Amino acid sequence: THPRQYAVFGHPIAHSLSPQIHQAFAQQFGIALDYRTIDAAPAAFADAVKHFFEHEDGRGANVTLPHKAAAFALADERTKAATNAGSANVLTRLPDGRIAAHNTDGAGMVRDITERHSIDLRGHDALMLGAGGAARGVAWSLMDAGIASLTIVNRSPDAADALADAIGEPHRVHTRYWEDLDNIGSYDLIINATSAGTLGQSLTLPFSLAAPRALCYDLGYGKSAIGFLAWAHAAGVRYAHDGLGMLVEQAADAFELWHGKRPETEPVYRMLRATKA
Ligand code: NDP
Repeated sequence: THPRQYAVFGHPIAHSLSPQIHQAFAQQFGIALDYRTIDAAPAAFADAVKHFFEHEDGRGANVTLPHKAAAFALADERTKAATNAGSANVLTRLPDGRIAAHNTDGAGMVRDITERHSIDLRGHDALMLGAGGAARGVAWSLMDAGIASLTIVNRSPDAADALADAIGEPHRVHTRYWEDLDNIGSYDLIINATSAGTLGQSLTLPFSLAAPRALCYDLGYGKSAIGFLAWAHAAGVRYAHDGLGMLVEQAADAFELWHGKRPETEPVYRMLRATKA
Protein backbone atom coordinates (compact mmCIF):
# COMPACT_ATOMS: atom_id res chain seq x y z
CA THR A 1 0.00 0.00 0.00
CA HIS A 2 0.95 3.61 -0.56
CA PRO A 3 2.75 4.87 2.58
CA ARG A 4 1.14 7.75 4.43
CA GLN A 5 2.72 11.13 3.68
CA TYR A 6 4.13 13.31 6.45
CA ALA A 7 6.80 16.02 6.59
CA VAL A 8 8.57 18.53 8.77
CA PHE A 9 8.87 22.10 7.45
CA GLY A 10 11.72 24.34 8.56
CA HIS A 11 14.49 26.58 7.31
CA PRO A 12 17.11 25.18 7.69
CA ILE A 13 15.79 21.65 8.22
CA ALA A 14 18.46 19.20 7.04
CA HIS A 15 19.55 18.23 10.57
CA SER A 16 16.06 17.72 11.98
CA LEU A 17 15.64 14.61 14.15
CA SER A 18 11.89 14.48 13.45
CA PRO A 19 12.05 12.01 10.52
CA GLN A 20 14.01 9.55 12.65
CA ILE A 21 11.67 9.98 15.62
CA HIS A 22 8.50 9.46 13.58
CA GLN A 23 9.95 6.45 11.72
CA ALA A 24 10.91 4.89 15.05
CA PHE A 25 7.38 5.45 16.39
CA ALA A 26 5.83 4.05 13.20
CA GLN A 27 7.94 0.89 13.46
CA GLN A 28 6.41 0.20 16.87
CA PHE A 29 3.07 -0.33 15.12
CA GLY A 30 4.22 -1.66 11.74
CA ILE A 31 2.98 1.51 10.04
CA ALA A 32 4.61 2.37 6.69
CA LEU A 33 5.38 6.06 6.73
CA ASP A 34 6.82 8.48 4.23
CA TYR A 35 8.18 11.32 6.42
CA ARG A 36 10.47 13.85 4.82
CA THR A 37 12.04 17.22 5.46
CA ILE A 38 10.83 20.18 3.40
CA ASP A 39 13.05 23.23 3.41
CA ALA A 40 10.95 26.30 2.70
CA ALA A 41 12.12 29.90 2.93
CA PRO A 42 9.60 32.06 4.83
CA ALA A 43 8.12 33.61 1.68
CA ALA A 44 7.50 30.14 0.20
CA PHE A 45 6.18 28.43 3.33
CA ALA A 46 2.41 28.87 2.95
CA ASP A 47 2.43 27.69 -0.67
CA ALA A 48 4.66 24.75 0.18
CA VAL A 49 2.25 23.63 2.92
CA LYS A 50 -0.73 24.04 0.62
CA HIS A 51 0.96 22.01 -2.08
CA PHE A 52 1.90 19.25 0.34
CA PHE A 53 -1.64 18.87 1.67
CA GLU A 54 -3.55 19.41 -1.60
CA HIS A 55 -1.35 17.76 -4.20
CA GLU A 56 0.98 15.36 -2.40
CA ASP A 57 -1.58 13.62 -0.22
CA GLY A 58 0.02 15.08 2.93
CA ARG A 59 -1.75 13.97 6.10
CA GLY A 60 0.24 15.88 8.68
CA ALA A 61 3.25 18.11 9.13
CA ASN A 62 5.53 19.22 11.88
CA VAL A 63 6.66 22.82 11.76
CA THR A 64 9.80 24.26 13.25
CA LEU A 65 11.86 27.46 13.09
CA PRO A 66 11.07 29.93 11.65
CA HIS A 67 7.56 28.91 10.54
CA LYS A 68 5.53 28.26 13.69
CA ALA A 69 3.67 31.59 13.67
CA ALA A 70 3.00 31.32 9.93
CA ALA A 71 1.70 27.78 10.40
CA PHE A 72 -0.73 29.04 13.01
CA ALA A 73 -1.87 31.85 10.71
CA LEU A 74 -2.61 29.68 7.69
CA ALA A 75 -4.71 27.08 9.52
CA ASP A 76 -8.49 26.85 9.24
CA GLU A 77 -8.91 25.55 12.79
CA ARG A 78 -6.79 25.97 15.91
CA THR A 79 -6.57 24.22 19.23
CA LYS A 80 -6.54 26.18 22.47
CA ALA A 81 -2.85 25.47 23.02
CA ALA A 82 -2.01 26.80 19.55
CA THR A 83 -4.21 29.86 20.06
CA ASN A 84 -2.55 30.64 23.39
CA ALA A 85 0.91 30.34 21.88
CA GLY A 86 0.00 32.07 18.62
CA SER A 87 2.06 29.38 16.95
CA ALA A 88 1.77 25.81 15.77
CA ASN A 89 4.29 22.98 15.64
CA VAL A 90 1.81 20.48 14.18
CA LEU A 91 -0.57 20.75 11.23
CA THR A 92 -3.15 18.10 10.43
CA ARG A 93 -5.27 17.68 7.33
CA LEU A 94 -8.86 17.11 8.40
CA PRO A 95 -11.06 14.66 6.46
CA ASP A 96 -12.77 17.59 4.71
CA GLY A 97 -9.42 18.98 3.54
CA ARG A 98 -9.19 21.85 5.97
CA ILE A 99 -6.03 22.30 8.02
CA ALA A 100 -5.93 22.21 11.83
CA ALA A 101 -3.14 23.79 13.89
CA HIS A 102 -1.91 22.27 17.16
CA ASN A 103 0.83 23.16 19.59
CA THR A 104 2.27 20.18 21.46
CA ASP A 105 5.52 21.80 22.64
CA GLY A 106 4.26 22.80 26.08
CA ALA A 107 2.61 19.48 26.84
CA GLY A 108 5.77 17.76 25.61
CA MET A 109 8.00 19.76 27.91
CA VAL A 110 5.81 19.24 30.96
CA ARG A 111 5.61 15.49 30.31
CA ASP A 112 9.38 15.30 29.90
CA ILE A 113 9.89 17.04 33.25
CA THR A 114 7.15 15.37 35.26
CA GLU A 115 7.25 11.85 33.82
CA ARG A 116 10.72 11.22 32.39
CA HIS A 117 12.57 13.19 35.04
CA SER A 118 9.97 12.50 37.79
CA ILE A 119 9.80 16.09 39.01
CA ASP A 120 6.56 17.39 40.50
CA LEU A 121 6.14 20.96 39.25
CA ARG A 122 3.35 21.86 41.65
CA GLY A 123 4.29 24.75 43.88
CA HIS A 124 7.46 25.62 42.00
CA ASP A 125 8.49 29.23 41.52
CA ALA A 126 9.55 29.30 37.90
CA LEU A 127 11.77 31.72 36.02
CA MET A 128 11.54 31.79 32.26
CA LEU A 129 14.34 33.38 30.28
CA GLY A 130 13.02 34.47 26.90
CA ALA A 131 9.59 35.40 25.59
CA GLY A 132 9.76 34.26 21.97
CA GLY A 133 7.77 31.56 20.22
CA ALA A 134 9.12 28.69 22.32
CA ALA A 135 8.42 30.54 25.58
CA ARG A 136 4.85 31.22 24.47
CA GLY A 137 4.47 27.59 23.55
CA VAL A 138 5.33 26.33 27.02
CA ALA A 139 4.08 29.07 29.38
CA TRP A 140 0.43 27.96 29.61
CA SER A 141 1.40 24.33 30.09
CA LEU A 142 3.62 25.31 33.02
CA MET A 143 0.74 27.24 34.58
CA ASP A 144 -1.57 24.25 34.05
CA ALA A 145 1.03 21.98 35.67
CA GLY A 146 0.47 23.88 38.91
CA ILE A 147 3.54 26.05 39.33
CA ALA A 148 3.09 28.65 42.07
CA SER A 149 4.48 31.57 40.10
CA LEU A 150 6.02 32.37 36.74
CA THR A 151 8.55 35.18 36.37
CA ILE A 152 9.33 36.09 32.78
CA VAL A 153 12.55 37.89 31.96
CA ASN A 154 13.32 38.85 28.39
CA ARG A 155 16.10 40.94 26.90
CA SER A 156 13.43 43.11 25.24
CA PRO A 157 10.96 43.80 28.07
CA ASP A 158 7.96 44.45 25.83
CA ALA A 159 7.78 40.82 24.74
CA ALA A 160 7.84 39.65 28.37
CA ASP A 161 5.05 42.06 29.29
CA ALA A 162 2.99 41.00 26.27
CA LEU A 163 3.30 37.33 27.25
CA ALA A 164 2.40 38.04 30.87
CA ASP A 165 -0.63 40.05 29.74
CA ALA A 166 -1.72 37.26 27.41
CA ILE A 167 -1.60 34.69 30.22
CA GLY A 168 -3.69 37.08 32.29
CA GLU A 169 -2.97 35.84 35.79
CA PRO A 170 -1.34 38.88 37.42
CA HIS A 171 -1.16 37.21 40.83
CA ARG A 172 0.99 34.35 39.55
CA VAL A 173 2.82 35.88 36.58
CA HIS A 174 5.42 38.64 36.88
CA THR A 175 7.99 40.24 34.62
CA ARG A 176 11.41 41.57 35.52
CA TYR A 177 14.14 43.35 33.58
CA TRP A 178 17.10 41.37 32.24
CA GLU A 179 19.40 43.97 33.82
CA ASP A 180 17.97 43.07 37.25
CA LEU A 181 18.75 39.33 37.12
CA ASP A 182 21.35 39.86 39.83
CA ASN A 183 18.79 40.88 42.41
CA ILE A 184 15.52 39.09 41.70
CA GLY A 185 16.14 36.19 44.09
CA SER A 186 16.21 32.45 43.43
CA TYR A 187 13.89 30.02 41.64
CA ASP A 188 13.05 26.29 41.80
CA LEU A 189 12.68 25.96 38.05
CA ILE A 190 14.69 27.95 35.51
CA ILE A 191 13.80 27.52 31.87
CA ASN A 192 16.06 28.75 29.15
CA ALA A 193 13.68 29.57 26.31
CA THR A 194 16.08 31.94 24.59
CA SER A 195 17.69 31.14 21.27
CA ALA A 196 21.07 32.42 22.51
CA GLY A 197 22.68 28.95 22.46
CA THR A 198 21.32 28.18 19.01
CA LEU A 199 22.77 31.48 17.80
CA GLY A 200 26.15 30.66 19.34
CA GLN A 201 25.80 33.42 21.96
CA SER A 202 26.35 32.95 25.66
CA LEU A 203 24.12 34.13 28.48
CA THR A 204 25.73 35.69 31.53
CA LEU A 205 23.60 34.59 34.47
CA PRO A 206 24.24 35.01 38.20
CA PHE A 207 24.38 31.85 40.35
CA SER A 208 21.99 33.56 42.77
CA LEU A 209 19.09 32.68 40.42
CA ALA A 210 19.29 28.99 41.21
CA ALA A 211 17.74 27.62 44.40
CA PRO A 212 19.76 24.63 45.74
CA ARG A 213 17.22 22.03 44.62
CA ALA A 214 16.42 23.82 41.39
CA LEU A 215 15.70 22.21 38.05
CA CYS A 216 17.36 24.01 35.16
CA TYR A 217 15.87 23.16 31.78
CA ASP A 218 17.06 24.26 28.35
CA LEU A 219 14.52 23.96 25.56
CA GLY A 220 17.41 23.41 23.17
CA TYR A 221 19.53 20.28 22.99
CA GLY A 222 22.93 19.26 21.71
CA LYS A 223 25.44 22.03 21.30
CA SER A 224 22.95 24.83 21.86
CA ALA A 225 22.26 23.71 25.46
CA ILE A 226 25.87 23.25 26.57
CA GLY A 227 26.44 26.77 27.89
CA PHE A 228 23.27 26.99 29.99
CA LEU A 229 23.66 23.48 31.42
CA ALA A 230 27.30 24.19 32.31
CA TRP A 231 26.12 27.30 34.16
CA ALA A 232 23.49 25.22 35.99
CA HIS A 233 26.02 22.62 37.09
CA ALA A 234 28.42 25.34 38.22
CA ALA A 235 25.58 26.88 40.24
CA GLY A 236 25.26 23.52 42.01
CA VAL A 237 21.66 22.75 41.07
CA ARG A 238 20.16 19.33 41.58
CA TYR A 239 18.80 18.79 38.08
CA ALA A 240 19.88 20.16 34.71
CA HIS A 241 18.24 18.81 31.56
CA ASP A 242 18.19 19.73 27.89
CA GLY A 243 15.16 19.69 25.58
CA LEU A 244 15.78 16.39 23.80
CA GLY A 245 13.05 14.70 25.82
CA MET A 246 10.67 17.54 24.98
CA LEU A 247 11.41 17.03 21.30
CA VAL A 248 10.50 13.35 21.54
CA GLU A 249 7.39 14.04 23.66
CA GLN A 250 5.98 16.73 21.36
CA ALA A 251 6.53 14.31 18.48
CA ALA A 252 4.61 11.59 20.36
CA ASP A 253 1.61 13.91 20.67
CA ALA A 254 1.79 14.69 16.95
CA PHE A 255 2.05 10.96 16.17
CA GLU A 256 -1.02 10.22 18.25
CA LEU A 257 -2.99 13.01 16.57
CA TRP A 258 -2.14 11.57 13.15
CA HIS A 259 -2.28 7.83 13.77
CA GLY A 260 -4.53 7.48 16.81
CA LYS A 261 -1.88 5.44 18.60
CA ARG A 262 0.34 6.32 21.53
CA PRO A 263 4.01 5.47 20.87
CA GLU A 264 6.57 4.47 23.49
CA THR A 265 8.91 7.43 23.84
CA GLU A 266 11.57 6.02 26.14
CA PRO A 267 13.34 3.71 23.63
CA VAL A 268 13.40 6.49 21.05
CA TYR A 269 14.71 8.99 23.59
CA ARG A 270 17.47 6.56 24.59
CA MET A 271 18.42 5.88 21.00
CA LEU A 272 18.76 9.60 20.27
CA ARG A 273 20.59 10.25 23.54
CA ALA A 274 23.09 7.51 22.68
CA THR A 275 23.73 8.70 19.15
CA LYS A 276 23.05 12.44 19.01
CA ALA A 277 23.41 14.31 22.25
P1 NDP B 1 12.45 33.23 18.94
O1 NDP B 1 13.32 33.79 17.89
O2 NDP B 1 10.97 33.31 18.80
O3 NDP B 1 12.81 33.90 20.36
C1 NDP B 1 14.13 34.02 20.77
C2 NDP B 1 14.18 34.47 22.22
O4 NDP B 1 15.54 34.42 22.68
C3 NDP B 1 13.71 35.91 22.44
O5 NDP B 1 13.08 35.98 23.69
C4 NDP B 1 15.03 36.68 22.43
O6 NDP B 1 14.98 37.89 23.15
C5 NDP B 1 15.92 35.70 23.15
N1 NDP B 1 17.36 35.88 22.89
C6 NDP B 1 18.03 35.61 21.74
N2 NDP B 1 19.34 35.84 21.89
C7 NDP B 1 19.53 36.28 23.17
C8 NDP B 1 20.66 36.68 23.92
N3 NDP B 1 21.88 36.68 23.38
N4 NDP B 1 20.47 37.05 25.21
C9 NDP B 1 19.24 37.06 25.76
N5 NDP B 1 18.12 36.68 25.08
C10 NDP B 1 18.26 36.29 23.81
O7 NDP B 1 12.93 31.71 19.09
P2 NDP B 1 12.07 30.48 19.69
O8 NDP B 1 11.40 30.99 20.91
O9 NDP B 1 11.24 29.88 18.64
O10 NDP B 1 13.19 29.41 20.06
C11 NDP B 1 14.01 29.52 21.23
C12 NDP B 1 14.79 28.20 21.39
O11 NDP B 1 13.93 27.15 21.84
C13 NDP B 1 15.42 27.71 20.10
O12 NDP B 1 16.80 27.92 20.15
C14 NDP B 1 15.12 26.21 20.03
O13 NDP B 1 16.32 25.48 20.07
C15 NDP B 1 14.35 25.91 21.30
N6 NDP B 1 13.17 25.04 21.04
C16 NDP B 1 13.22 23.70 21.39
C17 NDP B 1 12.13 22.85 21.20
C18 NDP B 1 12.22 21.39 21.58
O14 NDP B 1 11.37 20.59 21.17
N7 NDP B 1 13.17 20.98 22.38
C19 NDP B 1 10.89 23.35 20.61
C20 NDP B 1 10.92 24.78 20.31
C21 NDP B 1 12.03 25.56 20.49
P3 NDP B 1 14.52 39.27 22.41
O15 NDP B 1 13.03 39.27 22.42
O16 NDP B 1 15.12 40.32 23.25
O17 NDP B 1 15.10 39.23 21.02
